[in-house]
Amino acid sequence: LFSAVEMAPRDPILGLNEAFNADTRTTKVNLGVGVYTNEEGRIPLLRAVVEAEAALTAARAPRGYLPIEGIAAYDKAVQTLLLGSDSPLIQQGRVITTQAIGGTGALKTGADFLKRLLPDATVAISDPSWENHRALFEAAGFPVRNYRYYDAFSNGVNRGGLLEDLKNLPARSIVVLHACCHNPTGVDLTPEDWQAVLEIVREREHVPFLDIAYQGFGDGIEEDAAAVRLFAQSGLTFFVSSSFSKSFSLYGERVGALTIVTGDQEETGRVLSQVKRVIRTNYSNPPTHGASVVAAVLNSPELRVMWETELGEMRDRIRTMRLAMVEQLAALNAKRDFGFVAEQRGMFSYSGLTTEQVERLRNEFAIYAVGTGRICVAALNTRNLPVVTKAIAAVL
Ligand code: PMP
Repeated sequence: LFSAVEMAPRDPILGLNEAFNADTRTTKVNLGVGVYTNEEGRIPLLRAVVEAEAALTAARAPRGYLPIEGIAAYDKAVQTLLLGSDSPLIQQGRVITTQAIGGTGALKTGADFLKRLLPDATVAISDPSWENHRALFEAAGFPVRNYRYYDAFSNGVNRGGLLEDLKNLPARSIVVLHACCHNPTGVDLTPEDWQAVLEIVREREHVPFLDIAYQGFGDGIEEDAAAVRLFAQSGLTFFVSSSFSKSFSLYGERVGALTIVTGDQEETGRVLSQVKRVIRTNYSNPPTHGASVVAAVLNSPELRVMWETELGEMRDRIRTMRLAMVEQLAALNAKRDFGFVAEQRGMFSYSGLTTEQVERLRNEFAIYAVGTGRICVAALNTRNLPVVTKAIAAVL
């Protein structure tokens, strides 16, 4: 049975992790994996989460099956975070949200549902994008193309290329857009860019699929939802995949959601029934723990304030690390201006380092980054930053 099975290619980032773990040098730094670590270099367990878990444990709730669409209070809270508490769409019954197995599970449920709706559609993702976007939509049976996005010369967005490529896609293509904190580049669209994207999407009748995995890591919870709110006001129908892996530091609990904005309340009922069918045939219904914790925090005024404070601390710490990195590299007379790192948003930075430079960082300095030059700035702290900046200055 298995004699002809070929070895699948190793996941580049998880492979990097294995190499990092095996490295015995004490000064090693892992800037490869997309995880936020605090000043002590550890993945934080948020106080709001600890409190919510304590209350849940004390309540000794039985663990029956959840409904296919997940915990109702959780789904409702997700909608409010994404669309705002006064969203007319929610009031009009035009929004469905189903709990998902992380942001990845939300993308997968959405992709499977879309395959039934638009079997011949093309999917377009940014160049570059989170590496799983392509694999995931291809696995759902779609051809996947890139639209131009990152401009290495300006370390910004290739606006002309982006708009041209979106225009030239076949009509009714599925366009995956990073709503904030673009992974892997850290380069986001401006409000004007978003408006231009929206107009093309409308004109070409594309299906927008907004992926928001870092809400609150850019400029704030509300600010980071601006693109979602823009689409909400447009009158278009669209998909949103969202995740609490980062914003609640609940990576392993797999807490995400798929939200779909429909045309009207009657459509909502039909669409929900089909999405539930997709879920039912994939994993039946979602797990209880992570979403119970998130729902408890978001629906308790005190825990919510606590969470927002902790999220703000994570965001501010990343920002501080970005600024310190730019300053230290300038003080080291680095052969390049890294000012753009301070302008980028979220956990990542496309540093502009070449594959060879990334290799030297690893071989000579035990600093692990992705071959594309992506570094996780959320893994920097005041102790490892001088080590990293000195090494970068040395390999330039
Ligand atoms: N979308 C993007 C853009 C991501 O970067 C990630 C994960 N880092 C995800 C989705 C998936 O999130 P999750 O880990 O919650 O599945």
